[in-house]
Formats: sequence, structure tokens, C-alpha cells
Amino acid sequence: MAAVPLPASPGGIMTGAVHVCRHCDEVITDPEDAVLVWHEMSNSGPGWSVYAHRAHAHLVKPDPQLVAILTRIRATRARMNSRPQKGGEKSA
Ligand SMILES: [Zn+2]
Repeated sequence: MAAVPLPASPGGIMTGAVHVCRHCDEVITDPEDAVLVWHEMSNSGPGWSVYAHRAHAHLVKPDPQLVAILTRIRATRARMNSRPQKGGEKSA
């Protein structure tokens, strides 16, 4: 894994988080220029956020496979939420 040289940030705004533009694969050095385009889910953790340059945000297209996965997750969640609660058992 290649180390990305970090630009000096006098304000300390970028606290270790380096965003890479999904469109052009360049490091977004200016936090003001980083636009969150979507949050990607992960099976092994909380997932990660996908960023793009402000000028490139509208050019970033969601991964069709990712969209399909997210759609399936949302459908499953909706089904789980609409499932009636088990209320037939009495404990007392
Ligand atoms: Zn870019």
C-alpha cells in the first residue's frame, strides 16, 4: 500500500482523514473541496464514506452493483420492520 504524502494542514482540520476523489482518484487536499457523495456499506465494519471534489461530485455515478446491494438491504430491512411482533406468548 503506497503511502500518500499528507499536505501540512496548519489549521489541523484534516485530522488523519484523507479523502480521495471517486471520480479522478486524486487526493482531496482541501477539506472545503471534499463532497460526501455516498456512504458505502461494508460487511466487516461500519463501511466508509465516498468523497469527490466539489467540481466532480455530479460526475460520480454510484456503482450499479452497490445500488443493487443497497436496494436489497433496504428491502430486507423494510420486510423485517413490517413483520408483526411476536405477542402470543405470556410470561406471567
Ligand atoms: Zn476529482
